[in-house]
Parts: sequence; structure tokens; C-alpha cells
Amino acid sequence: MAGGVRCGVDQASRQAGPVVTGAVEQFAAVARGVSKEYGRDSGLVRAIDGVDLHVAIGETVAVMGPSGCGKSTLLHVLGGLDRASTGEVWLAGHRIDGVSERELARIRRTAVGFVFQSFHLMDELTARENIELPALLAGRSSRMARRRAHELLDSVGLGDRAGHLPSALSGGQRQRVAIARALVNQPSVVLADEPTGNLDSAATLDVLKLFKQLRGDGQTFVIVTHDERVAATADRLISMRDGAFIDETRLTGKTAGPLADLAGLDG
Ligand code: ADP
Repeated sequence: MAGGVRCGVDQASRQAGPVVTGAVEQFAAVARGVSKEYGRDSGLVRAIDGVDLHVAIGETVAVMGPSGCGKSTLLHVLGGLDRASTGEVWLAGHRIDGVSERELARIRRTAVGFVFQSFHLMDELTARENIELPALLAGRSSRMARRRAHELLDSVGLGDRAGHLPSALSGGQRQRVAIARALVNQPSVVLADEPTGNLDSAATLDVLKLFKQLRGDGQTFVIVTHDERVAATADRLISMRDGAFIDETRLTGKTAGPLADLAGLDG
């Protein structure tokens, strides 16, 4: 794992939850005793239920589980798109569960990048403009935003597609633009919800290679996925069921080798 291990899970601790040491500020993202409920009375749904998660800087965490078990809600709460009903949420050293909407938006703009299954690019903006937009919203000058967008387009292998509209790009290329957009403000953590869910195998491999390259640069990821090839590239795999974590596995040594083969990545 890149960035040093500050939290660990072993067989003995699985039942009691992960052994975590270090102050919350030292992690890219932290959830402590977090629950999220929707609705009320007979319509009440507990989407996540008393979850604890410490994501170390430079770590990639994959979250798997059946549809409806709370994976997207976890990402939304971690990234400040949704408010926890109870518990503490920390992003890049900021406690976000109790802050004002304005403060939350400010922290979110710089601390977190989102990648969605259906890309969520603006159709009428070019690839470059899509990437620039969050930088401009965060107060960067247009010159800075443009320079950063070009750097990112190069790093995701789309330097020659800067002026293309999303409609002129393949699914894999759109997702690489969306990943570049997520990175534009150098977020502490990228939260990706089924990032390869709409991609064919070749495009999935391109995205996995890109994630691998970004992890090499020290980027932190939490990735919700149904795809074992994606999960295989993580440092840690969390299984969810009914809003709770039911298992955590650190993917090192014996597991990482065959799983990396499964993902089709070299090394
Ligand atoms: P997953 O991502 O694992 O498919 P979700 O986090 O989307 O699961 O949903 C978890 C549960 O919370 C589901 O029962 C879902 O119907 C419910 N849920 C999610 N978002 C809302 C919402 N905005 N309002 C009401 N219920 C919701």
C-alpha cells in the first residue's frame, strides 16, 4: 500500500472491526459510527447502519455488495453530497457532518472528486471545458484552469481530444475525461461509483490502467464496484450487506497476485 499503513485489519480483529491508530486528520477520509436513514415511520430505510471507515492517504478501498446494500449512500455521505443521520465524517482533516451548506460545498470542491457510472459530463462543453469547470468554481484563474486541464488530458491519454464534445468520445474516453475532471482540484480522495459499469472490457482495462498510474502518484480512491477486476486492484476490499460492513480483506501477498492477473494488469 502506498503512503504507509496507518490502519490494519487482521483475522483476529475482523469481528471487532479494524484496528485503527492515528488521528482522524491523518486520513484522507473517515467515517465513525455513521448511519444514514431515509424516510420515516413505516417508510424508514436505514441505508447505512453504524459504519466505521478510515481511508489512509494513498490507499485504494473497493466496496462491493448487492444492489441496495448502501454502497452509493456511503460514498455520498463520505463525500458530503448527503448528510449522515448520525456519526462523524471527516474529509481531508475537516469534520464535515455538522458544517453549513456553504462550508460543505467549499470543502467538497477541493477535498473530493467524484466519478460516476454515467460520467455526468456537461454535453455542451468540450472535454477541456468539462475538466476546467470545477477549477473555475473553486476560484482558479481561467489560465490556471486551462493549463491544468491540458496537463490532465495528457495524463489520461486524451491530449488530442481537448476540443471534442462528449458526444464525439467513446464511453471509455468519456470516463477518462470524468476522471481528469475529478482530479482537477487535486482532491484528497476520489470517490468512484461503478466507474466501469457502462464500459466494455477494453475500456475497463484502460480505466484500470489509469487508476493504477494515479495510485502510483499517491492518489487516494474509494471505489464502489460490482466488477471483481476493479476490486482486485484495491489495497483493501470491503463487503457490505444491509447497510453494514460484513467483511474486510487486505489485498496483499497471496490475494494480490492472482487478483492482479484477474484484472489483467501487469505487475
Ligand atoms: P447501493 O448503492 O448498494 O445499490 P444505495 O446506497 O443506493 O445502495 O441504497 C441503499 C438503500 O437506501 C436502498 O434501500 C435505497 O432504496 C435507499 N435509498 C437510497 N437513496 C435514497 C433516497 N434518496 N431516498 C430514499 N431511499 C433511498
